Amino acid sequence: MAQDTQVFNFSAGPAVLPKEVLQQAASEMLDWHGSGMSVMEMSHRGPEFISIYRQAESDLRELLAVPPNYKILFMQGGGLAQNAIIPLNMVGCCPQPATIDFVHTGSWSGKSIKEAKRYAHVNIAASSEADGFTGVPPQDTWNLTSHAAYLHICTNETIDGVEYNFVPESLPKVPIVADMSSHILSRQIDVSKYGVIFAGAQKNIGPAGLTLVIVRDDLLDDALPICPSAFHWRTVAEHDSMFNTPPTYAIYIAGLVFAHLKRQGGVAAMEQRNIEKARLLYEALDADDFYQNRVAPAYRSRMNVPFFLRDESLNDKFLAGAKARGLLQLKGHKSVGGMRASIYNAMPLEGVQALVDYLNEFAGR
Ligand SMILES: *Cc1c(COP(=O)(O)O)cnc(C)c1O
Repeated sequence: MAQDTQVFNFSAGPAVLPKEVLQQAASEMLDWHGSGMSVMEMSHRGPEFISIYRQAESDLRELLAVPPNYKILFMQGGGLAQNAIIPLNMVGCCPQPATIDFVHTGSWSGKSIKEAKRYAHVNIAASSEADGFTGVPPQDTWNLTSHAAYLHICTNETIDGVEYNFVPESLPKVPIVADMSSHILSRQIDVSKYGVIFAGAQKNIGPAGLTLVIVRDDLLDDALPICPSAFHWRTVAEHDSMFNTPPTYAIYIAGLVFAHLKRQGGVAAMEQRNIEKARLLYEALDADDFYQNRVAPAYRSRMNVPFFLRDESLNDKFLAGAKARGLLQLKGHKSVGGMRASIYNAMPLEGVQALVDYLNEFAGR
């Protein structure tokens, strides 16, 4: 595609990054701040990288108002590795086998459940599977375990397009673990309501290869003895995420994204923009029955918008026409089919407007 063609990338992840961030990274690629080195070539223990790391950490802390009694860990292995790392770090708290409560709201919580079964007894406290994962089961129907090691939820189901619109109440002493991979930094959250928040970076933050884990201090010492040292949160925390070599370049790019978000007015400003973007897109999808989004309106994700054409024989034509207009990666996840538009922080309103114009045109409106 020609350099000067305006494109909008709706990929679910790895996903679009702010153009300003990519331009800054390009300008600093060969020589970071006069150091004579690319960030990729720096020792993670040298003063240059340490300054990059410290700034990224403190900017993220500020953006999410992370309280001082929480550690921010920069880890590797993605969200899927955390599905094992979390039980390895948390089920040592309780007589074995420990119980973990889960709320099953779609593909990603489903994967977390499957992995956790290797380490603990799993209780499905609630599930929306019977409704085809089109919402979040009301909290008063959840069947929670009083002695659970923790309660795991996925607050934005990237594939199903389902997002929590409330913070659940957990039972006393049962921390909530939240997979926020695909909507962290897209809306304001109260970190203190959670024991652990984790997120792969490649959806709404930066490049693949970096996983953020925000964990309350009192949860750092409940690991099983078999927990690998490099994945032991206490060990990682004590080494400022440098027990082993961290994904330095991914941390650097994430840091540029955090600084960019601060310049944009922070998470509150992003949230307002994300509300507006989502409203515009769902309005176009709901205008008549040419398109369909099956998620209950109260739980529709502001970040990931799956939709179907009423006449699915037009799918290929729809995608080809979108691509010709520079609207990229709209094909739905293979497990559900149809289309999906991911409209993360870095997707500008003009991108959503261009998609809406195309939706209307293709539907012959
Ligand atoms: C993408 C995603 C994951 C998995 O991330 P990987 O980095 O591929 O392991 C986990 N949870 C959610 C909600 C996701 O969107």
